[in-house]
Amino acid sequence: MAHQRKDTLQQLTTKLANTKAVIVIEELNVAGLLTHHHLAQAIAAVGFAECRRQLGYKASWYGSQVVVADRWYPSSTMCSGCGWVDAARTLAERVFRCRTPQRPECALILDRDLNAAINLANLAGSSSERPNACGAASSGLSQTAPMELAVRKQEPNTQ
Ligand SMILES: [Zn+2]
Repeated sequence: MAHQRKDTLQQLTTKLANTKAVIVIEELNVAGLLTHHHLAQAIAAVGFAECRRQLGYKASWYGSQVVVADRWYPSSTMCSGCGWVDAARTLAERVFRCRTPQRPECALILDRDLNAAINLANLAGSSSERPNACGAASSGLSQTAPMELAVRKQEPNTQ
């Protein structure tokens, strides 16, 4: 079983690094990953840190980029339509509803996970436009994963 899990993780990270130009992962959001991914058992057994490590060096091999949203990035509490952060949101709310008084015309209503995915995609897009996105020694880049870019966010996550 242990070998099967390791093999599954190797195949997953190889497939991601070899087929995706940009891979966005959320630092320490292991609980969210485990509840939504069909390979949760394998990832849980081998460890999220190992998954991240493999993505780092395989991204270097295949020329893809790993973007790490830090643990405070408000992926699930920020409106993907207007950027408003709902500090009062709870994890139990499955649907994101934009209620910002500053932009009432936004009124975005979206599945929580889809809203978070859009925010992470937007984060990856803004990261890849940075001149040093491929491994310069700035903004908290990992020593062991030169293609990895750590992205800082503006407001604390209240999940
Ligand atoms: Zn909004």
